[in-house]
Amino acid sequence: MYDVIIVGGGPAGSIAAQRAAKDGLDVLVLEKAVYPRSKICGGGVSQKALDVIGGIDKELIEREAFGARIFLPDYQNFAGTLNDRVAVMTRRENLDHWLARRAEDVGAVVQDGEAVKDVVFTKDCVEVVTSKNRYRSRMVIGSDGVNSMVARRSGIRTRWGDDIGRCLEAEVKLGENVVDECVGDRLVEFYFTGDRGYGWIFPKRDRISIGIGEFAPRVNDLKGSFSRFVRDVSVRKNIDIEGKITRINSYRIPAGGFPRRVHGDRVLLTGDAAGFVDPFLGEGIYYAMKSGEIAADVAAGAVESGDFSDRFLHEYVMRCEKEFNYDLKSALKFANFAYGHRDLFLKALWRDKRLFMEYLRTVRGDMTYTDFNRWCVLRSPVTLAKLIIGR
Ligand SMILES: Cc1cc2nc3c(=O)[nH]c(=O)nc-3n(C[C@H](O)[C@H](O)[C@H](O)COP(=O)(O)OP(=O)(O)OC[C@H]3O[C@@H](n4cnc5c(N)ncnc54)[C@H](O)[C@@H]3O)c2cc1C
Repeated sequence: MYDVIIVGGGPAGSIAAQRAAKDGLDVLVLEKAVYPRSKICGGGVSQKALDVIGGIDKELIEREAFGARIFLPDYQNFAGTLNDRVAVMTRRENLDHWLARRAEDVGAVVQDGEAVKDVVFTKDCVEVVTSKNRYRSRMVIGSDGVNSMVARRSGIRTRWGDDIGRCLEAEVKLGENVVDECVGDRLVEFYFTGDRGYGWIFPKRDRISIGIGEFAPRVNDLKGSFSRFVRDVSVRKNIDIEGKITRINSYRIPAGGFPRRVHGDRVLLTGDAAGFVDPFLGEGIYYAMKSGEIAADVAAGAVESGDFSDRFLHEYVMRCEKEFNYDLKSALKFANFAYGHRDLFLKALWRDKRLFMEYLRTVRGDMTYTDFNRWCVLRSPVTLAKLIIGR
């Protein structure tokens, strides 16, 4: 019998496995895909996420971003950069494979190509049924992403509500020089063209991730918006991005900051399965890894005490709340304001350079959304003056 079975070997699952194995637990990770497996994602890893990883293999860094260029709906644009690196651009197939191997190196058993078909909760253990086998463990960590079957089988959640968004993304191979020409050096691009979301171009070594996402359950014609966005960008940059797209991927993304159940008897949910995603930016890798780390520690406590009850595992909720989930609620307040008054917000970001810098610092992890919101309130007279004066 394993101490813990982790369903899903993305960032949440691999970091949870690494931590739990280090804590001395017998850990099994079951991943349905075969590594290196792709995940529909921009692959941007913020500095605060890198701090959780604690040192990343240089080979995984495709490019570095020190700031962002923001495009208004009419394509007027402005850029802001920090002296410090805000994020690195990675390819998820490489990052996730590397994270899984790191978990194996410290003793976790990682079985890829093995999809979990069922999870049965009994009084004494959890039975995990896969395409190949049947395993028993003291508890299970659901790190199986936005469509989590662990969430469903445990009865924690049957379906998402209005807190789910959708993205369309394509990885387009352009060659290294054209990527430089397309996005420039050290920046990522955000296009605020939608209602509650944005388009992006994230540069990789020889390709870009181009996509569009909306945090709304029913988005009218996202496919049409994506096509228009890619066509417009191709024309404006005079680079044939549209013609080089071979495949468009679609995926769901949960918005964080909403009250949700993330645990039950013998079960914890992490990452996307729990809905831990920045509701403004869609950043999820940091929250996946952070929640994975906390879940492993709480699982170690449960194994030590022999208590796997919902009540004991509530410790997970408390620690997530303290370390990042309270802040996701602040992020949601910020998102509601910024998307609710999009034009005013973008104008303020343009006119008030300091505001832009402080937001980049928030993404980097130097300050929390809670601090940033407070800072914005105190700053509002200056921002307002800059808006009125117009510079
Ligand atoms: C288009 C798009 C762009 C994004 N861009 C960024 C970005 O640039 N930066 C960022 O920080 N975040 C980004 N995100 C969010 C980020 O991708 C997720 O938040 C993050 O991947 C969550 O990690 P996770 O480990 O919880 O889940 P996932 O990465 O989804 O991993 C879940 C794993 O579980 C496996 N699995 C699922 N079901 C089963 C099963 N039944 N049995 C076994 N295994 C199973 C899957 O194969 C997968 O490997 C983006 C999301 C989208 C949709």
